[in-house]
Amino acid sequence: MNRELYLIAKKDKTPIWHPYTQAKTAAPAIPIARAEGAVLHGMDGKEYLDLISSWWVNLHGHAHPRIAEAIAAQAKTLEQVIFAGFTHQPAVELAARLSALLPADLERVFYSDNGSTAIEVALKVAYQFWKQADSPRKTRFLAFEGGYHGDTVGAMSMGASSGFFGHWKDLLFSITALPYPATWDNDPDVETKEKACLDALEAYLAQYAEETAALIVEPLVQGAAGMRMCRPEFLREVEKRLRAARVLLIFDEVMTGFGRTGDLFACLKSGATPDIICLSKGLSGGFLPLSVTVFRRFLHDAFLGEDFSTALAHGHSFTANPLGCAAALASLELLLEDQTARNIGTIVEKHRERLNGLSHPRLGRTRQCGTIAAVDVLGGRQDYSAQEGQALMRYFMDKGLLIRPLGHVIYLLPPYCVTPEQLDRAYDAIEAGARDILENP
Ligand code: PMP
Repeated sequence: MNRELYLIAKKDKTPIWHPYTQAKTAAPAIPIARAEGAVLHGMDGKEYLDLISSWWVNLHGHAHPRIAEAIAAQAKTLEQVIFAGFTHQPAVELAARLSALLPADLERVFYSDNGSTAIEVALKVAYQFWKQADSPRKTRFLAFEGGYHGDTVGAMSMGASSGFFGHWKDLLFSITALPYPATWDNDPDVETKEKACLDALEAYLAQYAEETAALIVEPLVQGAAGMRMCRPEFLREVEKRLRAARVLLIFDEVMTGFGRTGDLFACLKSGATPDIICLSKGLSGGFLPLSVTVFRRFLHDAFLGEDFSTALAHGHSFTANPLGCAAALASLELLLEDQTARNIGTIVEKHRERLNGLSHPRLGRTRQCGTIAAVDVLGGRQDYSAQEGQALMRYFMDKGLLIRPLGHVIYLLPPYCVTPEQLDRAYDAIEAGARDILENP
């Protein structure tokens, strides 16, 4: 390691506390100097192909000049302004564009800073809504087993069954986690599993509908749980039952939004329409922390009144930060261009071709939803503690590939500028990793 690198690694180690990292045993963080397209350039000259869009945020490639320029221009005009009592052009335009892309009636946009806060806003609104709509007994929340919705306390409560939050279990409010089918088109038992989950939902609703405010779901793909997918049919059936029971439906599209599933949003792909949708990550193209929680109009209108007592008492210092909104507008423009649609189509095809070709006995249960592809490592622990994931990650990193398995699940979730050749490199490495790592555990 050269001296400059050594110094950065050393300076990092002392003051910085990294997320989801055991500092005592973790390898030193890798200093990245710059990035372009799908490639991160390490300070040591090594390149890393970013096949997970840097924690699922980057959409069009790193340091995309059009987004960078939009942020720079905005920074010279208006960098930030209090959003209570004030507004600005980028926030107004972004809200209008988003609601035009979402299903009709999802049209009231609340800005916050990240995926977790978008969830908190959804939960608080759902809770207060029923009180103001004269159903104050509706205070319970529903989620699906394995669902992950963020790391703040409300979001952790909804995602308690994800298994990440044991330390705080007494702190979390109690919710009901229903079984999730985790089955898709080619599974022979897909309908049986979906039916069992729908039966569980029905049984719950028969008893508790009058006390239940909302259900939250990561539509089509549970991300952190290991890219567990479900069919659009399942979501439509869930929606039908919730509507009949007067329970609100919240779509956590923090990960699935902005083209990941092959459609702009999972709600459009599934044909199921939520009452509330949470968006972040790709919203700003992955450049700046920004999120929105978008509501159907009736939810917003229930907060109208003559004084503050019925208003939503929620806000963040950086609500609707103009730089984030400008980045989001530039990112949306790119997303809606034909070239991006073609790129997404190419990724979808490449995943299909290469997932079909994975034939190693320790690789099974391949699945794909649009640009998201996943395969399970068989034969070991089938959860987050699977040892193979760590070994494979080191193996991929040695080859200059940023692929971070979720326990026993290897997945690819690339930025849309990734080329077929780059994806071939990733799949070649997965096949080689199966031979080199999984055959010699
Ligand atoms: N919901 C989902 C589905 C997510 O994948 C994540 C983050 N991985 C979050 C919420 C939380 O987002 P953030 O990390 O920006 O708080």
